[in-house]
Amino acid sequence: MIAVLKQNVTEAQLEHLKGWLNGLGLGVHISRGSYQTVVGLVGDTSRVDIDLLQGLDMVESVTRISEPFKSANRKFHPDDTVVTVGQASIGGGHFAMIAGPCSVETPEQIVAVAREVKAAGAGILRGGAFKPRTSPYDFQGLGAEGLTLLRQAKQATGLPIITEIMNQDQLPLFEDVDVIQVGARNMQNFDLLNELGHIRKPVLLKRGLASTMKELLMSAEYIMAGGNEQVILCERGIRTFETYTRNTLDLSAVPKLKELSHLPVVVDPSHATGQARLVEPMALAAVAAGADGLMIEVHNDPAHALCDGPQSLRPEQFAALSAKVQRLREVLA
Ligand code: PEP
Ligand code: MN
Repeated sequence: MIAVLKQNVTEAQLEHLKGWLNGLGLGVHISRGSYQTVVGLVGDTSRVDIDLLQGLDMVESVTRISEPFKSANRKFHPDDTVVTVGQASIGGGHFAMIAGPCSVETPEQIVAVAREVKAAGAGILRGGAFKPRTSPYDFQGLGAEGLTLLRQAKQATGLPIITEIMNQDQLPLFEDVDVIQVGARNMQNFDLLNELGHIRKPVLLKRGLASTMKELLMSAEYIMAGGNEQVILCERGIRTFETYTRNTLDLSAVPKLKELSHLPVVVDPSHATGQARLVEPMALAAVAAGADGLMIEVHNDPAHALCDGPQSLRPEQFAALSAKVQRLREVLA
């Protein structure tokens, strides 16, 4: 349920209303936008006498929200959420490039790639330390050692870092990580999502391989229900009957998710297509569709990458893509 307040409402009136609603056992989310103040109620709203709320002097209108996601809902929070990490901002007209290798492999590799993607305009460095691989015999990532190497690359370049967490027990290791990634395979790991709700650090939540947009938003809701509102949604392709591409990039998810939710939406064309050649066209298409950022896999030697070489761009290819993205954004502005 949301209550839109009249324009002249004072802080004291707002506090009073909040106290009353909290007293009914409801969570209260206040969004002071440029044009209106919206009060979102989370919990068992059958406890609220809607006529009483509607009748209050300060209240303009009251609406029940039919969607099961509340905090992530744009009706709750009409303005775009902007997530800021270091110099990079994502959402609300701000755009960021997240780039780096699939996996952290060596200090030389991660620092070299970090320098190159930074020079090409990336605002956040990616690199997997804990890798969810389909086969237990494949490279599983360097683990905690990979996080140490990411820290070195962060120190060397000043770039904030994003890396994937596989379970909540790893959280203490993620102190120096700027954005925590929840991978497609963990999108519905509810214990993990609950834990991430208790921290105050941005979370990039990838859409599951066979998950609907509603399920993605409900997973974001798990994190937000714990009080962590810095969630970035990521479309990374879904599984369909098509086999010529690794996944099928669902670009309609970009405008649809942004219509339904105030959360920023980034696109990962690397995992979506699985092929380096297809990364640039789909990245540009994602920008045209309104994405707030891109996540691109970049490796200094894709042929020898320990993970996802075929979909990784070389640094110079990333630089060319980055320049095109910038030009396209200028045209679209
Ligand atoms: C990744 O970004 O390294 C990754 C494993 O992606 P996804 O969870 O989208 O498969
Ligand atoms: Mn990968």
